[in-house]
Formats: sequence, structure tokens, C-alpha cells
Amino acid sequence: TDPNLSMTDLLFRRADACPNALALVDAATGRSLTFAALRSAIRTTAAALATRAGVRPGDAVLLVAPNCVLYPVCVFAATALGAVATTANPLYTTREIAKQAADARVKLLITVPDLLPTVTSLNLPVILLDSDDLPASATPNVTRYSDLVSGVDEAAYRRPPTKQSDTAALFYSSGTTGESKGVILTHRNFIATSTMTTSDQDQRGEGGNVCLCFVPMFHIFGLAVITFAQLQRGNTVVVMSSFAMDTVMWAVERYRVTHLLCVPPVMIALAKQGMSGRHDLSSLRFILSAAAPLGKDVMEVVAKNFPNADIVQGYGMTETCGIISFEFPTNGKARRFGSTGALATGVEGKVVDVETLKHLPPNQLGEICVRGPHIMQGYFNNVQATDFTIKQGWLHTGDLGYFDEKGQLYVVDRLKELIKYKGFQIAPAELEGLLLSHPEILDAVVIPFPDTEAGEVPIAYVVRSPSSSLIEVDVQKFIESQVAYYKRLKRVTFVEGVPKSASGKILRRELIAQVRSEQAISSKL
Ligand code: ATP
Ligand code: MG
Repeated sequence: TDPNLSMTDLLFRRADACPNALALVDAATGRSLTFAALRSAIRTTAAALATRAGVRPGDAVLLVAPNCVLYPVCVFAATALGAVATTANPLYTTREIAKQAADARVKLLITVPDLLPTVTSLNLPVILLDSDDLPASATPNVTRYSDLVSGVDEAAYRRPPTKQSDTAALFYSSGTTGESKGVILTHRNFIATSTMTTSDQDQRGEGGNVCLCFVPMFHIFGLAVITFAQLQRGNTVVVMSSFAMDTVMWAVERYRVTHLLCVPPVMIALAKQGMSGRHDLSSLRFILSAAAPLGKDVMEVVAKNFPNADIVQGYGMTETCGIISFEFPTNGKARRFGSTGALATGVEGKVVDVETLKHLPPNQLGEICVRGPHIMQGYFNNVQATDFTIKQGWLHTGDLGYFDEKGQLYVVDRLKELIKYKGFQIAPAELEGLLLSHPEILDAVVIPFPDTEAGEVPIAYVVRSPSSSLIEVDVQKFIESQVAYYKRLKRVTFVEGVPKSASGKILRRELIAQVRSEQAISSKL
């Protein structure tokens, strides 16, 4: 394809093809943009950012906001200028945002009024979204979005000489296993991700799908896989600013949502809460879970609850611009739940021995490695981490898994999070999947616990259903009957909830730290 194609060129083409189709809809207000209006909003915003905020090619523009219709408009406006869009979790503290802003060398910050107190001390020029009721001259460094763009003609937008190999975005990995890292993604990476699924993910033809986006847009899944890829294909994206199961169900009915792209906690809710029947969910044809492991039992229950929808799993990471593999819809044929599907078109993958890095045959466990046009350029400012992760063109995912003989990929867990019991390794995700298959268990997390004899043993934190009278030994016995002896749970603690990140990942690190400090305290007593 054309080496000078940019992300926004693709969106603008879509606006030529279907100007009046709905591109973005705000779930709460119903406010919407057609593809023509989206193009016009991107051009106007880009022109205003260039002429009034001084944004130049290569400048980093940081978005710190919950999902809203203007969120992708600003991201694509920045990339339309050859600038670099970077995003942060709106729940971050001033310290966390400051650290990321410094790391990414941010020139301009775009946020919402609620977060102004959090960001003022950063001393960056600020654009405030969604701020019609705010006095114009609130703070010297602050400009309302409406003032920024008022009177700006979209014809003033000048496309810079962008190449596909130019950096479009700096997305930060979730920080699940350590410090989050800035992932350099080019226009080519985004274009690859958005086209990888075009012919396969929805065999019912291009465009016309309605996709709900409650996954945060600061995460690659929300922005690249859902928003950009769906828009690029002419589909409508219904934007939700926060996640609550009830509102999701309401929005599915209200907007006749066909595609629900979600994360494991939502799948667990879809399986465990049952469908109350309060909302008409018959429009749903496709439900995809990604971002963290999901046991097959949960998938099976969701499939029963939604007999007319394809229930599939996807696998990806920030470093792959969101996509590695996904399960192809099989039109009702029996599926192998538990697999994360086949490699997306254009992705090459292999599984290697963790120690020798030798390529392993099907059905053997090792580290998953991938390469293709969607792979990051590297970590920003971190040659060491880049060299550790990309070796001879192959991205080492840090995930343990295997291909079966048909090329279906199974992701077992992160190498870093395996529990080491003497010579054995235990994947917490496997035990969590089993725990979730118990009808009285609503959620679960498994972490290692130090053990003088074994090194580490697995312990579980479990959320019971309100009516359940399960006790520790019941849970231990339930697991015992299904696993090898070394995977038996040494301890089960009942809790109210499991700590999870905004992108639906279990924060095992937090629990492990908590257990360590409890131990340290008790050893002093
Ligand atoms: P960090 O790298 O900063 O510790 P992170 O790896 O959670 O954080 P992301 O890029 O958001 O940051 O997540 C990618 C990871 O999520 C993958 O490497 C994998 O471990 C996990 N993951 C994504 N999809 C799946 C899936 N379907 N099944 C199992 N794991 C998945
Ligand atoms: Mg990672």
C-alpha cells in the first residue's frame, strides 16, 4: 500500500464513501457525528491545534480524560498534524500524570474540567473538553475546546507530509507487571491493526455494525482495536464514559448494538448475573473478550445466555497495537472455547523454549513470539527494554502459550506471574478459570505464597455469591478434584472484590505486595 498513507487519510476516505453514516455516538446524550462530520471535526481541531495552540509535527499531545466523542477526534487531529498522541488513565494522580508527561515530553495536555485540579501543577498548556459552562478565562494556561475551535475553518487544515513509518502515538502499557512503558506506534501499526480484521472478523460485510466502546480509550484496545479499526471499516462506535453493567445493557438495547468488545470482568458479569430480561439484547451478534485470560467455562455460559451471538476471545498487547490473534466466528459450529483463536491476517507467530529460544512444535508450551506490520518500533527512551523484547525482528510477548496442530493459539498466562512450586510451574489463570466455573463463585484471584518447602504455593481470594455458604475446605476440595497435587490451594480467603485495572486485568501484583507486608508485620509480632 501507499507508503504515505496516514491514519486520518483512511478515516477521510471512509467519509468519502459513507458521509452520512453514523461514526460516533455519545451513549449518554445520544449526540452523534456522521463520518462527514467526524472528518470535519478532525480537520477543524487539527487546524486549531496548529494555528492556535502551536502544535507541530512530532510534538506529543497528552489526553487525560474519560471516553467521550471528542476523545478520538483529538487523538486523530493530533495524528493528522504529524504530532504524537499519547494517553493516560484519568484515574491517575498528579504524580503519575507528571511522570508520564515528562517521559513522553508532552507539549500540550487535553483534559476535562473535573481533572483540572489534578493537572494544573504540571505547568503545561491545557485544552478543556466538555466545558461549555466554564468561565472563559478560568486560568491563564487553560483554553476551552469550544474557544480553541471557534471561528476556525476546516479548510485551514494542512496535511503534513506524513509517512506510514512516522510515529502516530505513544501508548503506555498497562503496568500490570511493573512500570508501564511507552510503546512507540506508527501510522503503519494502526493501519495494520485496523485492516487485519476487515475480511474476517465480520463476514457479513463491511460497515453497518454498531460497536459499543466502554473499554477506556486511553488503552490500545479501546482506541486502536475498537475505535479506530471500527471507524476505519465504516462501523458506528457508541461511546460510553464509564462502565456499569446496567448501563451497558441499556445502551445495547437503546442503540441496537451488534458488537460488544469487552474484557473478562464484563464476561464474568454476563455469565454470572444472568440476563434479567429487562433489556432487549437481541441485536448482539458478536461478543469478544480480550486483554486478560478468560476460562472456557465462562465463555460457555455466555454462549448459552446469548445463543444468537458469536462468543470469541481475542489476544493482543500494547506492543502489537492491540492485536495478535482472535477466534473467527464459526457460524454456530462447536468452538474450542479457551483458545484465543488464530493469528490475525499478516501476523506471524511462533512458540519458543523459554531458555534456549528454540522454536517448539505444536502443543508444546513456551513463550509466544510474534512479528508483522503491527509491531511497535520499540519502547520510548528505553533501549534496554526494547532489546530485551524485540529479538531479530520477533516480539517476545512474555506470555506462555502454545499452538495446537490446527494453528489455534492458547494463551496460558504471563511468564512473570507463574507460581513456582519446586520444579513445577502453576498458571494462576488456570486455577482462576476453574474457580469461576463454580456456580457459587463470582470472582477469584490466585497468587503465590512463600513456602519453606515448596518455594511457592498457590493461595486464592474468592468472591462468593451472596446466598452461598461455601467455606474454605469446600473450595479447596472443588479444586483438588480437578488438578495435580501441587496445584492444590494452600489457603482460600473470602473477599468482597478482586482488584482489577481499568482494562480489566487482575492486579495480582497489588495482592502479592499486600500479603508480603502482612507477613512482614506478623513476623515482627
Ligand atoms: P505491562 O506490560 O505494563 O506489565 P500489560 O502487559 O498488562 O502491562 P497490555 O499491553 O495492556 O499491558 O496487556 C497485554 C497483555 O495482556 C498480554 O501480554 C497478555 O499477558 C494479556 N492478554 C491480553 N489478551 C489476553 C487473552 N485473551 N488471554 C490471556 N492474556 C491476555
Ligand atoms: Mg505487557
